Amino acid sequence: MKAYKLLINGKLVEGRTTRGIINPATEEVFAQCPQADEALLNHAVASARSAFPGWAGRPLSERAGMLQRLADALEARRDDIALILTQEQGKPLGDAKGEIAGTVGYIRYIATLDLPPKVLKENEGERIVQHRAPLGVVGAITPWNMPLILLALKLAPGLLAGNTMIVKPAPTTPLTTLLIGELCAEIFPLGVVNTIVDDNDLGAVMTRHPSIAKIAFTGSTETGRKVMESAAGTLKRLTLELGGNDAALVLDDNDPDEVAEHLLRGATLNCGQVCLAIKRAYIPESLYDAVCDALAQRANAMVVGDGQDPATQMGPIQNRAQYKKVKGYLDIAKRDGNVIAGGELSKGPGYFVPPTIVRDIHDTSPLVSEEQFGPVLPVLVYRDVEDVLARINDSHWGLGGTIWGRDLERAYALAQRFESGTVWVNRHLNLQAEIPFSGAKQSGIGTEYGQEGLEEFTQRKVINMQLGA
Ligand code: NAD
Repeated sequence: MKAYKLLINGKLVEGRTTRGIINPATEEVFAQCPQADEALLNHAVASARSAFPGWAGRPLSERAGMLQRLADALEARRDDIALILTQEQGKPLGDAKGEIAGTVGYIRYIATLDLPPKVLKENEGERIVQHRAPLGVVGAITPWNMPLILLALKLAPGLLAGNTMIVKPAPTTPLTTLLIGELCAEIFPLGVVNTIVDDNDLGAVMTRHPSIAKIAFTGSTETGRKVMESAAGTLKRLTLELGGNDAALVLDDNDPDEVAEHLLRGATLNCGQVCLAIKRAYIPESLYDAVCDALAQRANAMVVGDGQDPATQMGPIQNRAQYKKVKGYLDIAKRDGNVIAGGELSKGPGYFVPPTIVRDIHDTSPLVSEEQFGPVLPVLVYRDVEDVLARINDSHWGLGGTIWGRDLERAYALAQRFESGTVWVNRHLNLQAEIPFSGAKQSGIGTEYGQEGLEEFTQRKVINMQLGA
């Protein structure tokens, strides 16, 4: 069995305890992982703190070069790291490779960016220049659905900007993050990157830590609130990428079969465990039966299984707690609607949930108003576009959303009225490295991706000089 290690102060070290990592497709422990305690976390923070001035003082081009080396190293290890990602997370191997390709691509993109000083004012008497200075030690806290890409969104811009990093994955998917730590150990100076694994207890220590300047967090809205509260004590900078309950609005000029294909994919990718997954679908009355039937037919044909099996289209739910939660939503689906595909769990082992389609369900059902984070799609009917917009926007979330229709002007006009950070028209999950991404309402604070995503890891610093003194 491979011995995983934490990366602290440039050394690969044991933890204080170990935790067994479960493969969600088999429910068996397949790896042992080191786990840190508060003292080890403090040691990591202290080493990141002392590495900061040296790292921040290097030219940006040197930091970019090291990020390119990290991308190269990760690419070279794509196949074996993808296998571990599938084993710890559950997603099909092809999707795991896709996540690694996205991670590599994002790191490479960030390495092409710059943070040039900007002359704000210059004349005979004065020169005022804005710099983008790093913040110090940044804590990156990630969830278990997409451990690598969500890490890259923090690690790459954080490092390029000149910060040093403490990285903490979710306790159920730590292995791929530790593998990134191993690669970093070969590339970055001592203390610049540190990896910590916890028992869901050290995130809170990081958010209140006096020596951590910023927390870049992806996770649930509920935990995001706790992060904000705890960070208030030291007025930490925060990026919060939180939950969503994204709606798909289908307009009446769609082909039912075609749109059903897009809806099902958007609702079942990564077993529905995507912040931007389609979590509720609104269909016009004229197409309702046809779209529901097409969805059910396609859902019934999907191959659910171990992500290591090449035939698998959808893997298991990642962990037991989430599996129990999704099981609860299946009960709600039966109570509040008509289940026309899926709905029943197999005996196991494995946290498998079949793609489930639920029709004739009302807006107040928790399956519609909450974030299910599993492959259970409520399909709702509407008669009037104004009315459905109000129903869609009646949510404290506002992450993404999709509109499906042939009349692009109409779709564009409606997209402007969605209360969310991103709206896709006739496509979904099109996330591009240079296009900023941020959540509206309680789906988040701050931005990832693009130049804006990089600048989130900096502090504006203005140098204001009187000339000719
Ligand atoms: P979670 O909030 O339970 O955990 C996320 C991380 O926070 C984990 O590393 C966890 O150990 C840590 N944590 C737990 N308690 C903490 C505390 N008090 N302080 C600081 N950190 C703490 O989320 P999850 O269940 O792992 O992930 C699923 C959620 O993430 C969903 O709501 C999903 O929509 C959201 N998500 C959002 C995005 C986005 O970009 N907006 C992307 C992916 C997932």
